[in-house]
Amino acid sequence: MTDVDPKIIDGKAFAAGLRGRVADAVAALKQEHGLTPGLAVVLVGDDPASHIYVRSKGKQTEETGMNSVQHTLPAETAQADLLSLIATLNADPQVNGILVQLPLPEQIDEQAIIDAIDPAKDVDGFHVVNAGRLATGGRAMVPCTPLGCLMLLQDRLGDLTGMEAVIVGRSNIVGKPMAQLLLGANCTVTIAHSRTRNLADVCRRADILVAAVGRPQMIKGDWVKPGAAVIDVGINRIDTGGERPKLVGDVDFAAAREQAAAITPVPGGVGPMTIAVLLRNTVVAACRQHGLADPNI
Ligand code: NDP
Repeated sequence: MTDVDPKIIDGKAFAAGLRGRVADAVAALKQEHGLTPGLAVVLVGDDPASHIYVRSKGKQTEETGMNSVQHTLPAETAQADLLSLIATLNADPQVNGILVQLPLPEQIDEQAIIDAIDPAKDVDGFHVVNAGRLATGGRAMVPCTPLGCLMLLQDRLGDLTGMEAVIVGRSNIVGKPMAQLLLGANCTVTIAHSRTRNLADVCRRADILVAAVGRPQMIKGDWVKPGAAVIDVGINRIDTGGERPKLVGDVDFAAAREQAAAITPVPGGVGPMTIAVLLRNTVVAACRQHGLADPNI
């Protein structure tokens, strides 16, 4: 098979389309309301991977016509100083979205920082108010990666009503919000985790199988029901003896592809969706803060 295999869900292409729709919405907001959405990204410390993500977020924010502000603080920053910056950003009307790049240095309590962000500006959707709204069917800011997965699924499958969805992983940033979104889309949802018995059998029930574990190629081909849609959130770097580590997902892609009707590759599947949805969330946050209807993007 080649890369034009129609089974492959091309997240890179979908994300490019989403960024285009975000840019159109930003242009309309400027023209009709004189409003330019702004995203503030806060980076503490010098983790090289975080620096790459933050640069990429800033670049893509500007490419869609929004304002991008970046605050880079030294690794030894005290929690009180970070909280003070968050308070300033919360009060700044030019800033519609605030994202604090995780992980944070160990002297800082991540939960305290997330709790301090104004829920209306919480474009990551990690604040307990947004988690609660998502769980109760309210108008939440929704975590970017699971929302990106839902968009890919609905684009490929249309209405998900009545489908059996199995999510492997129960983290607050991926597994749990993914489950809420699929429940909201009328799926019958199972969340599996490290204590789940007979994981292979549970996975075999799934019309939609989402892997968000962080273990390279753990989901085997024969765990995939023939005709299922497989969404691989995992990003794992493995040493194959080459110059650079190889990027693989949580799913044994080659084997799962034989069984599935649709599958996301790693890289090029879920990964590119996360920043595109972050930009979408920033526009949504700006609209809500100005009493405007959510843009259709
Ligand atoms: P966490 O480590 O927070 O959660 C992992 C989950 O997997 C836990 O619920 C854990 O269960 C479960 N798990 C671990 N081992 C097993 C096992 N052997 N069998 C069944 N379940 C298991 O990870 P995240 O949710 O933050 O991330 C998951 C993956 O997604 C990672 O590879 C991460 O890099 C990637 N990711 C990708 C993003 C993107 O594409 N942009 C964004 C975010 C994450 P338990 O709760 O019982 O411990």
